[in-house]
Amino acid sequence: MNDNDNKIIIAIDGYSSSGKSSMARALARVIGYRYIDSGAMYRAVTLYAMRNGMILPDGSVDTNKLIAALPDIKIDFAVSNEQQNTLLNGENVEKEIRQLPVSNNVSRVAAIPEVRHRLVALQQQFGRERGIVMDGRDIGTTVFPNAELKIFVNAPAETRAERRLKELLDKGEKVSYDEILDNVKQRDHIDETRAESPLRRADDAIDFDNSSMTIDEQNKRLLQLYNNVIGHHD
Ligand code: C5P
Repeated sequence: MNDNDNKIIIAIDGYSSSGKSSMARALARVIGYRYIDSGAMYRAVTLYAMRNGMILPDGSVDTNKLIAALPDIKIDFAVSNEQQNTLLNGENVEKEIRQLPVSNNVSRVAAIPEVRHRLVALQQQFGRERGIVMDGRDIGTTVFPNAELKIFVNAPAETRAERRLKELLDKGEKVSYDEILDNVKQRDHIDETRAESPLRRADDAIDFDNSSMTIDEQNKRLLQLYNNVIGHHD
């Protein structure tokens, strides 16, 4: 029997800045699985579009031009010093894709069906070996509808904006609470209302509201849920 046959697929979905990436990354580290941040892939495509004049002055996307360029956009991940870096055509763009200009454009790029089809296919390839924790918006519904463990993370928009603000200020960015809250709400809205695989809780996902949990508590709870699925009870 292949070693990977025992491994499961874990899908963690939820709203912007709900802390799902930190939870997913921490779980993957503890159980020795690969972590994939699907949002980073949409962010990298967005950065490519911004750099190549495909975001028009009114904020709309030059969809035809971006679709034509999709075969030229290669996205991958590299791990160094425990930090996962997103590569866009071989360039490490990890820092740039987290900044507000990318956050402000990403949901419009992510609403384009051709972009989604391409990235979903790539995400499914990453899952072929199993033993993966992937976070995003449509992982439990579209990318891995048969994932053995599905979590849907949520917390009020204000709590999420405060967390995101702290993260960006810690990184030395000059941003205000109001602009972050606007961005969080705007992304929630675009993500929930787009036609192609909108943000939606999978029917068989476990709700996970982490607004009153410490990071330690949320990591423990997630590990418990994983242990329940694979049959290790503590
Ligand atoms: O997870 P993160 O906030 O970095 O994702 C950035 C954006 O990418 C989201 O606001 C959403 O528009 C898009 N996204 C998506 N589907 C995913 C992951 C992210 O549409 N699976």
